[in-house]
Amino acid sequence: MATPAPLDASLPDRVHVTEVGPRDGLQNEPVVLATADKVALVRALVAAGVREFELTSFVSPRAVPALADAAELVAAVRDIPGIHFSALVPNPRGAERALEAGVDSVVLFVSASESHNAKNVNATVEASLAGFDRIARHLEGSGIALRGAIATSFGCPFEGEVPVESVGRIARHFADLGARYVSLGDTTGMATPPLVTERIRHLRETVPEITPTLHFHNTRGIGLANVLQGLSLGVDRYESAIGGLGGCPFAPGASGNIASEDLIYLLDELGIATGIALEDMIAASRLASRLMGRELPAQVSKAGPRLATHDAACTLAARG
Ligand code: ZN
Repeated sequence: MATPAPLDASLPDRVHVTEVGPRDGLQNEPVVLATADKVALVRALVAAGVREFELTSFVSPRAVPALADAAELVAAVRDIPGIHFSALVPNPRGAERALEAGVDSVVLFVSASESHNAKNVNATVEASLAGFDRIARHLEGSGIALRGAIATSFGCPFEGEVPVESVGRIARHFADLGARYVSLGDTTGMATPPLVTERIRHLRETVPEITPTLHFHNTRGIGLANVLQGLSLGVDRYESAIGGLGGCPFAPGASGNIASEDLIYLLDELGIATGIALEDMIAASRLASRLMGRELPAQVSKAGPRLATHDAACTLAARG
């Protein structure tokens, strides 16, 4: 097969895709998957070529019952060779549990807007940042890497616009704690291409030592347009969820994370390497759909790759 010509010479040759389905995708779902089912899904994704997972969250099992098996899940998959597993931790107790379980990195998360942080973790942004300092001290010398995640980086469902400086200030705090990767989360799907440009340029100017990761939701249908904007700026790290799992409690009925297979399809067609096989991602998405007992929002899983051909005898009349 001929490799498609890249759209633009400035696009990255290679992109790292972190699969967040097992954590972000499942945390708001009404169906709680058994640990064995999560393991089967992770293994299917590994078989497709996925090498980085945001696997779970060491939060209170009462707050997020879907992720109550965090330690068991890490134990069940951590020996798969060559895979990076990260987990979210909200406090030093969570960091302790993640350390015991044996994750490769912990993700510290805070919202860029006060009201979302209050709703999400019942703390001011300042209090969250102070807590990160305690977690960082706790993990010193453990060999576990710290990563940062900034929710509502492109807008807040309670406050509207989020100033770019709020995102930059938190990214600076993460950089000072030694985090190399900081993810900008589009928690409720408010990102637009101009906002992507503004935020990436600001971070490059003010916190050049971090490598930004983009985490879009397809809530308003422009998740992949935002990815394309990120690519045109040279951003080479993205997060997505198999099948487009996940939702937002503040946008009922809306799509969740951008779907991993839709992202891989776009990157394949741009000639950007990911190491992930689209056909195998579609198979993993079908497994996810069966496990969740519902159709998932991803589109490539329904239509197939663009050159997937159909039996002409079976094709219904297509007009318009
Ligand atoms: Zn998400």
